[in-house]
Amino acid sequence: MPNKKTSPTTKFVFVTGGVMSGIGKGVTTASIGKLCQFRGFKVSAIKIDPYLNVDPGTLNPVEHGECFITDEVWHFNPIKDEGLNPYTYTMIGELDQDFGTYERFLNSYIHPSHNITSGQIYFETILKERKGEYLGKTVQIIPHCTDMIKNRIKEIARNEKIDALIIECGGTVGDVESVIFLEAFRQLRLELPKEDTALVHVTLVPYSEAVGELKSKPTQHSVKELQSAGLQPDFLICRSKIEIPTELKRKISLFTNVKPDHVISNPDIKSIYTVPLIFEDQKLGDLLGEHLNLKPRLVEFSKVNNYSEWIKTASLYTKNYDKTLRIAMPGKYVDNRDSYVSINEALKHACAHEGVNLEIVFVDTEKTEFQLEFDSCDGILLTPGFGTRGVEGMVLSAKYAMENKTPYLGICFGAQLFYVAFMRYVMGITDAHSTEVAPETPNPVVSMMDEQQKIVNMGGTMRLGGQPVIVSENTLLFQAYEKGEIRERFRHRYHINESYFTDEVKAKGLRISAYDQTGKIVNAIELDEEIHPFMVGTQFHPEYCSRPYEPSPIYLKFIQKIIAKKNS
Ligand code: GLN
Repeated sequence: MPNKKTSPTTKFVFVTGGVMSGIGKGVTTASIGKLCQFRGFKVSAIKIDPYLNVDPGTLNPVEHGECFITDEVWHFNPIKDEGLNPYTYTMIGELDQDFGTYERFLNSYIHPSHNITSGQIYFETILKERKGEYLGKTVQIIPHCTDMIKNRIKEIARNEKIDALIIECGGTVGDVESVIFLEAFRQLRLELPKEDTALVHVTLVPYSEAVGELKSKPTQHSVKELQSAGLQPDFLICRSKIEIPTELKRKISLFTNVKPDHVISNPDIKSIYTVPLIFEDQKLGDLLGEHLNLKPRLVEFSKVNNYSEWIKTASLYTKNYDKTLRIAMPGKYVDNRDSYVSINEALKHACAHEGVNLEIVFVDTEKTEFQLEFDSCDGILLTPGFGTRGVEGMVLSAKYAMENKTPYLGICFGAQLFYVAFMRYVMGITDAHSTEVAPETPNPVVSMMDEQQKIVNMGGTMRLGGQPVIVSENTLLFQAYEKGEIRERFRHRYHINESYFTDEVKAKGLRISAYDQTGKIVNAIELDEEIHPFMVGTQFHPEYCSRPYEPSPIYLKFIQKIIAKKNS
């Protein structure tokens, strides 16, 4: 019997990784999506994370990198339970950091159901077994879990009517946890017509300093590993320190059964936004289109999906400008730079658009005399965070910015701790604190939101996702957004306690510059411009909506004020 096609138009591009993780599969996935957009195709991406967590929301950012927050939150209720039973229902809105890369490159809002984990697949399988949905059958990884994976992928393609769906599998081939996902890919490739799928394998071609040569052996081995799972790659993206010469491409082709012109070089470069252009230079977009039998479409291109516009955007990130801004980022997750990847990118966007180079100085607030590092910095961005470790140093960072008139942007925890610092050092409430850090504090200037009080489970239970923000006029925030209502993304349990916002506090220059729609949750605070050049804290995370072609307005204002201060 002929296999039923998922949808007449959706093509599936699977992206796997070899040799080691962290070689830029996310950027490759997003860049392939961009090549499709240049040709007028509707595209989206899926990320598979083979770990057992239902979502990355409970993972430590030092171990896993940043958690990306999507605009929408997904009510994951696999057995369609009526009540909100915590054992059968969970909210998902905290996603793998690669979604940030996808959204920044593809100019799209991605639904949280696009992040598939082993945890979700097993959770759903077991709930269905308990409900008796498998009708007496022995429930097995193959076919029950693999079918579920295939259905998740097909459902997204069907619901969103996508021309090309790029599906990235996290980790590297050979990982025990990814076996079921690779098996699902193999089955899909067998079921669907040949021209409906492509497999792109991203691998590392290390450079041996000793012999001064690029080495292809690890790539050969990782392709063998993939072949033993029944998967033959159609394209290889070879990450390397330098460009892969044609000769080496031929050798890799010979040993991997991939056509020589389908072996694509992806050398180290200054900016990730150039990757789609490097792929275009090697004709990857055309070759992929031919392979998938997708003809470029003449469509009304949105500005950012247009090839020549992207060239202009990417060029902003490769230039060397005359001025360099040093921005300090004090925080507690500084051991892994990926902990703050959306913030790093938002700062880059704002700096590139203002024509300045950016140097980020990560400052570990647990170290002694860490404040000395601020003296040589032009601005301070106080990072988001959770828990108690390193917090005193973060409060002192806000104090430093207030006292030294250093431009300051505090994000979420960074806004809450700015409020703590103001209450302690300006208002003299020396024991002011957040109840997250000091539950017994007599002065809880930051406290748990009412809606959070009854919550016991951790995953997906914070105030999450995109929410309207009402901005007050005559504030720095209004200057930045030029609107009274904006939409930004949130991830928090605690909030600024407005009962401490007295007339005396106002008289000392603190302003509430935004609330939520109910007027109950303080969404942003700032110091009066007359007493400080720029001291702003936002309860929301504007970095999640910053784009390479359109910086976040408040990040842009922060950078503009730093430049103005330097020039004055
Ligand atoms: N820990 C704080 C809260 O839960 C801040 C969270 C954050 O910085 N995202 O409210």
